Order: sequence, then structure tokens, then C-alpha cells
Amino acid sequence: MAYNELGDLPLDDFRRVGHEIVDWIADYLDNTEQYPVLSQSKPGEIKSQLPDVPPLQPESLDSIMADFQDIIMPGITHWNHPNFYAYFSNTGSVPGILAEMLITALNVNGMLWRTSPAATELEEVTMDWLRQLLGLADGWDGIIMDGASMSSMVAIAAAREAVEGLDVRTKGMAHATVPQLRVYISEQTHSSLEKGAMVLGIGQENVVKIPVDCENGMDVDALETAVLRDIDEGKRPFFVCATVGTTSATGVDPVPAIADIAQKHNMWLHVDGAYGGMAAIVPEKQHLFAGVDRADSLVVNPHKWLFTPMDLSAFYTRRPDIVKRAFSLLPEYLRSAETDANTVRDYMDYGVQLGRRFRALKLWFVLRAYGQEGLIARLRDHMRLAQLFGSWVEASPTFERMAPIVFSTVCFRAHPQGIDDEETLNKLNEALMNAVNDTGHIFISHTKLQGSYTLRLAIGNIRTAESHIRQAWILLQKMLTHIKIDS
Ligand SMILES: *Cc1c(COP(=O)(O)O)cnc(C)c1O
Repeated sequence: MAYNELGDLPLDDFRRVGHEIVDWIADYLDNTEQYPVLSQSKPGEIKSQLPDVPPLQPESLDSIMADFQDIIMPGITHWNHPNFYAYFSNTGSVPGILAEMLITALNVNGMLWRTSPAATELEEVTMDWLRQLLGLADGWDGIIMDGASMSSMVAIAAAREAVEGLDVRTKGMAHATVPQLRVYISEQTHSSLEKGAMVLGIGQENVVKIPVDCENGMDVDALETAVLRDIDEGKRPFFVCATVGTTSATGVDPVPAIADIAQKHNMWLHVDGAYGGMAAIVPEKQHLFAGVDRADSLVVNPHKWLFTPMDLSAFYTRRPDIVKRAFSLLPEYLRSAETDANTVRDYMDYGVQLGRRFRALKLWFVLRAYGQEGLIARLRDHMRLAQLFGSWVEASPTFERMAPIVFSTVCFRAHPQGIDDEETLNKLNEALMNAVNDTGHIFISHTKLQGSYTLRLAIGNIRTAESHIRQAWILLQKMLTHIKIDS
């Protein structure tokens, strides 16, 4: 085959370097533990090693790979490290990585059915498979988004579209008949909900944060009181978010009671299960999802706790017609016969993105490569490890558990005997977290619960084993003995 001289690099180069990269990836996954989990790079250190101007002449793939190894890798925080416990850990899995290679090679833009029928139809199929795994009823429709933040913003936009007589789509927010729209979340709801409200012109002041009870779930009486007060004042409650697995302490909002209030006051109920929602595939955890079937929309993130590489968020709704009404816009240059005949779905109509990656392919690889049983077994094991770590914390005279362990995340802190001043404990725990993270052996993060600096150990990487959390526990105890706090 003759190449255009000004075309792509020779395929012989692709073959040679491609094989090297596959070997590199396999070695990396085999040896991730040799790297510090948290990058030890200082601000600006990576940039200072890179030229200020782009290369004038072509450079060889070998020299690019060498710089990748020498300059880029030291600036990587290793999410694939089995001792990554910060935020919510995730996984670049073997099937996911392989699928990503194909996704990039095909470089499909799945905006319309005709721009790759397989991309659209595989998305329909994989979203429906995942729906079944999650135990959702037939009428739920899934759309792949880049992240939960986008999914939740789309939910708020759809909820606004559903408000009778508003027509913000055409007239905008400043129109005379638009009342003051109100969104309800809990104090523990992820910040993405507030961001979505900011972007959509609802405004931060119209995001009402309801207090939580001692198990970090939304106080439903406080929700009802707030809604009634707002109605009294002529405001329009239209959206409430319930979270199953909050980001801070993995609390679960009382979804059935929130659903009652949503129904009574004609509000859209969105469930944020970005992390915890994945546990719905585990039969003995299904009870945590009671009431979710009454919601209007739901987000779960396979890129968080279902071994699918970044990024893939699954947005589900029982009202896809409303989502479409909020987002569809068909310029002449995107018309097609199938679209006109209404025989296919064009995913561009269900969100902000026009061009869309073929993300469904990686979820398809993941779901097939592990199977339902394999996925359940892995999530179950992560939850077992969290309970085990929690039992060590509880049995220890120097540590204490700070929240119930509902999923695979443990909230805890050091609380040595004789130190009871909260400010001292906060300083001590912050110093402990920094000390263990600086070792490079583990990476944990923190939150504040009722003012207390709380450490979080979130298990979610497919390669994390019992030996790893044992190492983490030993390291935490050892580093604690080195910390001196003046009080
Ligand atoms: C992580 C998380 C999000 C944000 O997810 P992205 O995909 O990063 O946007 C939203 N809600 C909850 C509960 C989360 O844990």
C-alpha cells in the first residue's frame, strides 16, 4: 500500500512502538507498586522540563516515549496502585484498556446513528445490560456521559424543562413568568449539583442545603419544612437530589421518604449514586436502593467502581422524552433519512455534547470480561476489606471509626488516649495523613465530619488485596508514633 508522503507515520512504526507500549503497560500494571502512589513532583517541576515552544521538526516516537518515561511518569499519581485509597479509587482494567485502544483507533464520532450505527446500538445495549444488573425496571433509559457532574447537570436541565409553562428553552430565565426556581440537596451532596445549578442560571442562592442526621442521610422533616416555606414565599421547588453513597462519608439519603415529598410537590427526583450506586448490582446491597425506582433520573459511574477506565458515567432516566425536549436541536446539516423516519436514536439529542466518543465499547468489554458474577464478587470483596479494616480501627485504642461503613469506604481518625481537644485531634490527623502520603506507600484523603478532620480509606481498585490494606494499617499506626503536636 502506498502512503501519502504527507500522511500519517508508517504503520511499521506503529506496529513496533505499539507492541512496545503494550509490553510497557503490562509491566506497569505488574509493577505499579514500585512507584510512589502520590506523585512526589513539586508544582512547576514537570513544566520546567518541557520546551516553551512546540517542535519545528518531526521527532521520533522513541524520543517521545523516552521523555514520557523520564519527564511525565514522575508527575503521575498512580490511580492504578493497589494502595490508592484517596477520594474514590478507580481502575484501568485489562478489558477496559484494550477497548480504549480500539475506541481510539476507530475514532468514531457517535453523534448520529448513521455516523456509526454500532456506537449507538451498542450504547443502547450496554446501558440496558447495566440497567438490568442494577435491578432497575424496564422503563429506565440510559445515556453515557463523561462524568456524574454532567449527568446531574443534565438532570437539573431536564427537571426545569418539565416545569409546566416555564419554557426556559425558548424564552430564557429572565422571562417575566419564570418564578424563583429552587433546588434541594443535603449538606453532604456532591458539589457538582450546586455547580450544575450555577451553570443553568438557577443560582447558588437557590440551592437549598438540607441538614443531615447522625448517619449522614438527609433530614426529611427539614426538607419538607424548607419546601413548604419556599412555596409560601412564592418560590417554585422543582428539583431534589437524593444521594446513595455520599462523597464524604458514603451516607445514604432516605430515598423513599424524599420520593414522597418530591411526588407531593411535583419535583423532579434525581438520585446521585455516582459511587454507591454500583453496589446495587450486589444482591445483599439492593435494599439500599429502595425507592430509587420512583426517581426521575439516576447517575452511576462505571468509571468509579466498575473497573471501566475514565471516563464513563451512566445517566438513567424514566423520562427520556423530557431530556430530549431540553436538549435536541436539529440543524439542516445534521438531518438524516433515519432521523426523519424516527427509526433510530441520535445520542446528540440527549445532552450537551455533539461529538461523542465510542465509550460503550469499553463498558461492553468490561461487562463481558468479568460477567455479572465476577463483578459482584469483586465489589463484595472490596466491601469485605472495608469491614475488615473497620474492625481493626474499632479494636484499636488509638483510632476510632467516624461513620458507618456502608460500602467500601472507611471514615476514621486517630484518637490517642488522653487527647480530647478537637483542635489538637484535627491537627494530629492532618499531620498523620500528610506523613503517610509522603512515604509514597499509600495515598489516603480526608473530609470534615461535624467539624472533625476525618481520614478516608476508599477501596475500589481491582488489584487491592487484603495484604495491601494490612500494610496501610501498619503504616498508619507506625507513622502516628512519629507525630508530635504542640497543643
Ligand atoms: C465522584 C462523585 C461525583 C462526581 O463525579 P464525576 O464523574 O467526577 O463528575 C458526583 N457525585 C458523587 C456522589 C460522587 O461520589
